[in-house]
Amino acid sequence: MTKYIFLTGGVVSSVGKGVTTAALGKLMKERGFELSIQKLDPYINVDPGTMSPYQHGEVYVLDDGSETDLDLGHYERFTEARLSRVCNLTSGQIYSNVIAQERRGDFLGGTIQVIPHITNEIKARIREVGQVTGAELVLVEVGGTVGDIESLPFLEALRQMRSEIGRENSVFVHVTWLPYIGATGELKTKPTQHSVRELRSIGISPDVIVARSDYPVAESLREKIAQFCGVEPKAVIPVITTDILYEVPLRLEAQGLGDYLTHRLGLTATKTPDWSEWERLVAQERRDRPRVRVAIVGKYVELRDAYMSVREAVRHASLAVGVETELLWLHSAELEKGKGWEDLRRAHGIIVPGGFDHRGIEGKISAARYARESQIPYLGLCLGMQAMVIEFGRHVLGSEDTNSTEFDPHTPHPVIDLLPEQRGIGDKGGTMRLGLYPCDLVPGTAAQRAYGVPSIEERHRHRFEFNNTYREILAEHGMVYSGISPDGKLVEIAELADHPFMLGSQFHPEFLSRPNRPHPLFRAFIESVAERAEVKGRPAVERASHSEQRVES
Ligand code: GLN
Repeated sequence: MTKYIFLTGGVVSSVGKGVTTAALGKLMKERGFELSIQKLDPYINVDPGTMSPYQHGEVYVLDDGSETDLDLGHYERFTEARLSRVCNLTSGQIYSNVIAQERRGDFLGGTIQVIPHITNEIKARIREVGQVTGAELVLVEVGGTVGDIESLPFLEALRQMRSEIGRENSVFVHVTWLPYIGATGELKTKPTQHSVRELRSIGISPDVIVARSDYPVAESLREKIAQFCGVEPKAVIPVITTDILYEVPLRLEAQGLGDYLTHRLGLTATKTPDWSEWERLVAQERRDRPRVRVAIVGKYVELRDAYMSVREAVRHASLAVGVETELLWLHSAELEKGKGWEDLRRAHGIIVPGGFDHRGIEGKISAARYARESQIPYLGLCLGMQAMVIEFGRHVLGSEDTNSTEFDPHTPHPVIDLLPEQRGIGDKGGTMRLGLYPCDLVPGTAAQRAYGVPSIEERHRHRFEFNNTYREILAEHGMVYSGISPDGKLVEIAELADHPFMLGSQFHPEFLSRPNRPHPLFRAFIESVAERAEVKGRPAVERASHSEQRVES
């Protein structure tokens, strides 16, 4: 029988429920359990693929091409699981399924209602995770905050599930926030009490309270929360804000949460947790490292969540190379107006991440031009690769009208053009070239050196691609196609011969970077950035001495 850990959020949003879920996954994985993680999102969109990053942050793409919530990125990075479509469930999916069944006549004249039809569908989709993945333990995170109207059907479904499968097979973890009142210098538990009361009013009693706070939580406060919320004192887990994400599981472990959950679910660990690798990562992150600066030229830079995986991939690579990377967030549309160029010039490397639509594209192209002319390391991710090709095309062809047909449908030189199979597609949702595709690497190129293998598989999310009509002419001037689809038709990686590191990939390498396994392209880029900055980093593994590996919590 599959066992479940259900996570809900209370008091306010953005307290790190996704990271907490991912960290719990890590605790349980370290004990040898086969697990999977599912996110329930209460919005009516079928998936976040059609949402603006301003609304939703990054869209995280899985192997199977599903476009999912950015929390799935945390889950994959923390647990190293490769998740699938069933791991992100939205109200939109639930309702459209139930309505399709109704149209088919499956309900034989019945009135379709939230309870039981919607809640039954939710329960079936939660159970599907265990069935599809074979996981013995499934973590389910409910998006939003308890008290939201939208998430009520999800919570009701979880309440029903608990009474069906029993307390011994399910644990409710409630993640809350303890506000700090500056005037009196106190942390307050009242909002936590209220949100637990709210949860109780829908029939759910939490078993564990993870109390997030910016300040240390006194033992007396912990006891107070336990008393008022009806949980054991050892099941109240304070988690103080840390800027080191990968420290969260270590802190939860130090407070006994992994053992508590294992015991509570009647499970037997098959493995003793080994934290040495993560302790080394955290120690490396704490250590003073030579600093380098990387500019991220994007158009959603006000919202850092929009580039979550890029930021994490830079972090992983920096830890591995042994440098500390300061990110300079530059708005591509501002560069077009001549603003932000001093920052761009201060950077030792430039990343142009993915994006859609013409706004800000000229700023990205001019950042690519600057990188090429000034020999600054450049990493282009999807649209960033296309910007690099457009820029190089303008230079080689001597025509500023060179473009992608995404931005100028009538360009005389469409160096980037719609993928043939994309022609005639009208629907926006889930119709791009999505998910894992193989790519052959060309010997002797920077990409092949970085990966060190002959072929790879990477995650994609795009409609446009390199136009093969221009392969030859751009190659004659120094563009190298270092990654090609096995059928030879698609340029997946392009780089410049005459440059320390100027490389763009049509795929999104950031989705496959992991804390302990930095992505080869990000690593090669950061190495080149360190060279540009004339600093020598010392890698985590060589440097960590025993005493440095200890982590306070
Ligand atoms: N807009 C470009 C395309 O659709 C790039 C997409 C992206 O950066 N993810 O091909």
